[in-house]
Amino acid sequence: MSKIKILPVHLVNKIAAGECIERPASVIKELVENSIDAGATKIDVYIEQGGTKVIRVTDNGAGIDTDDLPLAVTPHATSKLQDENDLYAISTMGFRGEALTSIGSVAVLKIASIMPSRESGGQIEVGDGHISEVRPYAGASGTTIEVDNLFFNTPARRKFLKSPQTELGHCQEAVIRLALAYPTIGFTLSHANRRILQLPAAESPRTRINDIFGPEIGDGLIQVFTQSKDITFSAYVSRPQQAKPSANWQYFFVNRRAIRDRYITHALREAYRGLMPQDRQPVGFLFLEIDPSIVDVNVHPTKSEVRFADSGRIHSLVLGAIRERFLSVDLTAGLNMRDTKPQGLEVEEKTTPHQETIKEALNDFLKSAPKSDQARIPFTHHTPDVTITKRRDREEADILPSPTERVLQIHNSYLVVETAEGMMIVDQHALHERILYQQMRGRVNAGAVPRQKLLMPELVNLTPDEMEQIEQIRPSLNQAGVEVEAFGPQTAAIHSLPAVISHLNATEFIEELLTRLGKTAKVEPEQVLEHVLQSLACKAAIKAGDPLKPDEIQSLLASRNKVDMASSCPHGRPTVLQMSLSDLQKQFKRT
Ligand code: ADP
Ligand code: MG
Repeated sequence: MSKIKILPVHLVNKIAAGECIERPASVIKELVENSIDAGATKIDVYIEQGGTKVIRVTDNGAGIDTDDLPLAVTPHATSKLQDENDLYAISTMGFRGEALTSIGSVAVLKIASIMPSRESGGQIEVGDGHISEVRPYAGASGTTIEVDNLFFNTPARRKFLKSPQTELGHCQEAVIRLALAYPTIGFTLSHANRRILQLPAAESPRTRINDIFGPEIGDGLIQVFTQSKDITFSAYVSRPQQAKPSANWQYFFVNRRAIRDRYITHALREAYRGLMPQDRQPVGFLFLEIDPSIVDVNVHPTKSEVRFADSGRIHSLVLGAIRERFLSVDLTAGLNMRDTKPQGLEVEEKTTPHQETIKEALNDFLKSAPKSDQARIPFTHHTPDVTITKRRDREEADILPSPTERVLQIHNSYLVVETAEGMMIVDQHALHERILYQQMRGRVNAGAVPRQKLLMPELVNLTPDEMEQIEQIRPSLNQAGVEVEAFGPQTAAIHSLPAVISHLNATEFIEELLTRLGKTAKVEPEQVLEHVLQSLACKAAIKAGDPLKPDEIQSLLASRNKVDMASSCPHGRPTVLQMSLSDLQKQFKRT
């Protein structure tokens, strides 16, 4: 008896649905894309229970001819491809003609549509593969598609759905991606009675970015633009100082489709190399318009990946354009108190957040800053103790100092300290990093680092290459007080840490270390040890953004006097900025 059978159509559709409909957010993506293809200028998305109960998308687009309604829900029926040639020059979001069919096989699907030129239209319903007859429909012109009880007939899929809150998050993200790609279309997203997004039609992507993410993200972005015969690249990227702890604020679009792509991800990251710490991620909204003949969008059922004919060219174009733009923008984080504005675009007229923070620190402390053009305050950073003793010998009785240090922590990052000779601003992370480094270095030089055994080993997942690299540098790690052992083929276990370190995220430490060591270079043991100590200090130190208690501040400042080279962190950045009272007096023209 023959064992091979042709699958019934409804089963084929369910299987196909498995590919493009993963969760409520995928339904939203497909429906909104159809509305965009229909030329809508306003798209409203309404959902209940994270989209698992109801998803309704209403648009004011071209509508569906009543006679076409049964076809719209038939597999591989589309109005968007006429012949094979179109496949190589796709200009619509959809073209596979399978979304509505797939949705109709795993949910209850209702379509109601009126074409703008008609008085009335039609509606149709699909449930579990069964298609109703077309009934008349009256309402505003455009199309409303509702999807109820997603996966009601595929319990295995339904089980994989997360909480309504999590699904809502995915739905919101889906709308955001489409809204970023189509700023001139107005969007709303509502969850039951709550308005989640309200995005009026915008003229430029920057306005849309601001409407979605707020001016904190949007305002400081630098615009990048370059164009060639077959590729246009435009982007909005953050200054290095505005970088984020994760890549959540990176969006890439190719021909207005949100995509993931490792070449573009890498190029963006690479553009910031050396400009920001390794554990930060730039904010970036990158839009590529590429001649459809040199990019294939038909490599993934949800079209979230594309294949470039020449990915190397895309990589260097993105990297080159951002780097070149950086050259024309003042990215420095230096301290400049002059009241003059730098030349350039409107966005460039702002100081960087870093400058801003220090400036605010000074303004807080001094109450008012001098306004004249010459009012550049000559800051220097040098080892505080030395200068203080020298200056104490001088006769400056009238402006002399209180013996105790009064301190103010600002922005959870800097300590403004009243010192014997004037004032100083301490970078809490940089100083703590230096202190930890010096303490560990001292113990290493003395021959033994006191270590503390961890009650539970900290496990770190690694690639086989990284495992091998860790194995090679094990002696240096051990010398610094870090005992590491293989725990499985791709897992290392950390059993002890140097005693001066109270807590450490082991994974971050190993990542930091491997990044410092680089992938290829053969490094001398002494250099490895240096990297180990620096990585430990960096990851165990108080972070910028950590609020400190008064006793923590006092102990940090007290340790400053006990270690060498307290004026710079192990990477050579200053830990302390100083200003003497006589400098202050000069600035206020008191002398
Ligand atoms: P595809 O988008 O790949 O063509 P779909 O299954 O998503 O396939 O949609 C099938 C067809 O239904 C589309 O080609 C289009 O003609 C029609 N359609 C779907 N949604 C809309 C809409 N909101 N407005 C107008 N036409 C629509
Ligand atoms: Mg479609």
